[in-house]
Amino acid sequence: MPDALPLSPATLAVASGRPARTQAAPVNPPIVLSSTYVSQGEVPAGELFYARADTETWHPFEETLGALEGSAHPAVLFGSGMAAIAAAISLVPPGGRLVVPRHAYNVTVVHAQDVAGRSGIEVVQVDIADTDAVVAAVRGDGVPAAMLWVESPTNPMLEVADVPALVAAAHEAGTLVAVDNTFATPLGQQPLALGADVVVHSVTKYLAGHSDVVLGAALADDPALHADLRRYRTVHGAIAGPTEAWLALRGVRTLALRVERAQANAAEIARRLADHPAVAEVRHPSLPDDPGHARAAAQMRGFGSIVGLRPRGGVAAADALVAAVRLWVPATSLGGVESSLERRRRFPLETVTVPEDLLRLSVGVEDVEDLWRDLDQALRAASL
Ligand SMILES: *Cc1c(COP(=O)(O)O)cnc(C)c1O
Repeated sequence: MPDALPLSPATLAVASGRPARTQAAPVNPPIVLSSTYVSQGEVPAGELFYARADTETWHPFEETLGALEGSAHPAVLFGSGMAAIAAAISLVPPGGRLVVPRHAYNVTVVHAQDVAGRSGIEVVQVDIADTDAVVAAVRGDGVPAAMLWVESPTNPMLEVADVPALVAAAHEAGTLVAVDNTFATPLGQQPLALGADVVVHSVTKYLAGHSDVVLGAALADDPALHADLRRYRTVHGAIAGPTEAWLALRGVRTLALRVERAQANAAEIARRLADHPAVAEVRHPSLPDDPGHARAAAQMRGFGSIVGLRPRGGVAAADALVAAVRLWVPATSLGGVESSLERRRRFPLETVTVPEDLLRLSVGVEDVEDLWRDLDQALRAASL
């Protein structure tokens, strides 16, 4: 990377993690498929010896995501978003309190509860948009929480947290702050710059961006926290395959283009849905009357490309809509180039306060008029 120049995130996504510019060097790094390295005697720090501990095909993506998040260190790549989340939650000591948003990604909440059952960690769920309630849960009755988990916007309810206010209150109490930045992407917000201690990503989503890999990453500026995250990966074997790491690097090159287009599409679709006769409720932080609008406008660049939709007619209409789309893909996951949608409560593990009829739309990069025509015909078919 030409590190003498101050580069914008869109440029870093393209320029970071390239091989050194020597004559006839490749522009892209190779995929190295080797579980072990020639090695004898003492291994100096940073030297490769076994691919569960470290392998060079991770490095270009780790450098690129570290640069995008403005971190002091490269990201730590994991085999999935959940592996990265488990690593971050492992920083909570036995007996400590973990404050999580009630509408965080549902498996994050399930994982926290599983850990709580085994190790005496206390999990407290809060409405992450209610700053006073979150701060009260962090402070507790004199014993501050070990960690505050933040998702903003939340998956799937799109609540927006006041991240700077929560970080300030948590740090005053001596509480670590972890932020799941999957929805916003580093182009939308940089939690480390807002003061967060740990950032996690489901790389599966926007960063890789093509629905062809499952990967995760965690970042921390503090050297000890960064070392803890790397150690967790090594001793739990929560590693990514080299091919997946390479695909994520390939995907992240176009992050800015994809995110800009998807966000513009999402805002336009949300605006049109708000006026649609077959729609009961639409959530997107871009909408001026959305509860998260003011905060998102103040602390994010862009409003993301996930839209919450509740059609008139309840669960039956929501399921009929999913069955009636032809271009949108009925599928879970999000952040791919293709638009997709699903009713979240079809999963038994989804939080019960998520409305039964809520559809989560992941808006992709297709032509917005094609997306709208398909959604409009499906809404009409579903409301008959
Ligand atoms: C998908 C998702 C995860 C889990 O990531 P995986 O890569 O599926 O393990 C975590 N957080 C959020 C916000 C997600 O959307």
